[in-house]
Amino acid sequence: MNRVHIKTYGCQMNERDSEAVAALLRARGYRLVADESACDVLLLNTCSVRDLAEQKALGKAANLLRRKQHNPRFVLGILGCMAQNRGAALLDALPDIDLIVGTQKFHQVPDYLDNLRAAREAGVPLGSTIVDIAEEAGSQNTLSAHVLEERQVTAFVSIQQGCNMDCSFCIVPKTRGDERSRPMDEIVRECEELAGRGVREITLLGQIVTSYGRRDYPHAGGITPFVQLLERLDAIPGLRRLRFTSPHPRGFKDDLIQAYGRLEKLCAYVHLPLQSGSDRILRLMNRPYTRERYRQIVADLRRVRPEMYFSTDIIVGFPGETDEDFAQTRDLFEACNYDMAYIFKYSVRSGTPAAGLAEQVPEPVKEERNQILLGLLAANSDRRNATLLGTTQEVLVEGPDKKGLGFMGRTRGNRIVHLAATERLVGELVPVKITRVSTAVLYGETVPAGGEAPLATAVPASGGPKTEIEAKAEA
Ligand code: SF4
Repeated sequence: MNRVHIKTYGCQMNERDSEAVAALLRARGYRLVADESACDVLLLNTCSVRDLAEQKALGKAANLLRRKQHNPRFVLGILGCMAQNRGAALLDALPDIDLIVGTQKFHQVPDYLDNLRAAREAGVPLGSTIVDIAEEAGSQNTLSAHVLEERQVTAFVSIQQGCNMDCSFCIVPKTRGDERSRPMDEIVRECEELAGRGVREITLLGQIVTSYGRRDYPHAGGITPFVQLLERLDAIPGLRRLRFTSPHPRGFKDDLIQAYGRLEKLCAYVHLPLQSGSDRILRLMNRPYTRERYRQIVADLRRVRPEMYFSTDIIVGFPGETDEDFAQTRDLFEACNYDMAYIFKYSVRSGTPAAGLAEQVPEPVKEERNQILLGLLAANSDRRNATLLGTTQEVLVEGPDKKGLGFMGRTRGNRIVHLAATERLVGELVPVKITRVSTAVLYGETVPAGGEAPLATAVPASGGPKTEIEAKAEA
């Protein structure tokens, strides 16, 4: 009755939360199993960002509940954003669920499972569900444990939870609550410990990560708390690369832009959500920047780091988006030359301010706009790939690739590279000559020490073509 499987939906923040819950459960004597059919306890860590994401998890939970017919001891729990969003109302659709735990109560999961397990073993008929979606002061500090696999090279570290920006399309302020940051010393300690255990690249996570610590720490010489944190992490011996997600354009003040010029471990890759290139639509979305300000941030970052790679989020078909609004998005999209983009067709998200807006854009129009942006991305991909062939890139070797075709790693620009390597190179930064490319992946060979090919940054300055594109258009 102690085998647990956790299935995670949604973003990297959810992945990190699941990992932390897994670490707590392991410390409590539970065994994590990869095979969901071989578990006694199944936890669904859910996503609420779109109605569709919730429907998927609901369908999965309904299916899993059938297991109780032949195994009444089977425990099914729903954690995370959908639990927070729907709470006890989930019982209308899933009356036999055992556990509903919101986003500020992940750390209570081991206690709740212990209670359920004790009741099962004592033969007590349960019949009631544990529901805990309360807010809890300090809950952002409760999830610092990690489950590291052998020779794990990369890790996520959550530094901040919640968001107060109230973008009109977004459910996150409801599911994740107010902005709360972790103490800087604790984050530094956690990262030092990870580096000591062999982690070489850390991605800092938060719903609005660039706002880190703004209520808790003063600016120091014009440096925001987020950049102060980056400075301290940059100094950790053994750590080689730093990334972060998800930021807000508002967070890219001069101190952060300049940090890219002086913090060597900060990777030349920025995810910079645009959402729309129309100032009118940005106002409707309650996004506090203009297209001009956004364009300036991109230009400033490229000036400081000419090799910078960019990805973005775009919503096409936001209510009221006209042909002219979309033309502005398209224009800015082309000007920014994104390396990756996550393009979403707007869909009504109940519980958000935008859900009540009139002037919904017809589905075929959304689809057409979606396809236009995807086409631009594909063209960018081909052009950028052509420029990378034959160059040498610095790759952090992460381990064997999942298909057993050798090893995989990433460039500083976050491009996946497949290469021939040896176990000895896992965790090393190695020069790799790119010998073949596909749309999303590069293939290469390590350059021997003293080899002829120089370690090239090999990325064109602003306006040049870009490489890999990961375009995700949701149906
Ligand atoms: S900043 Fe991001 S998380 Fe916060 S409300 Fe806007 S889209 Fe949602």
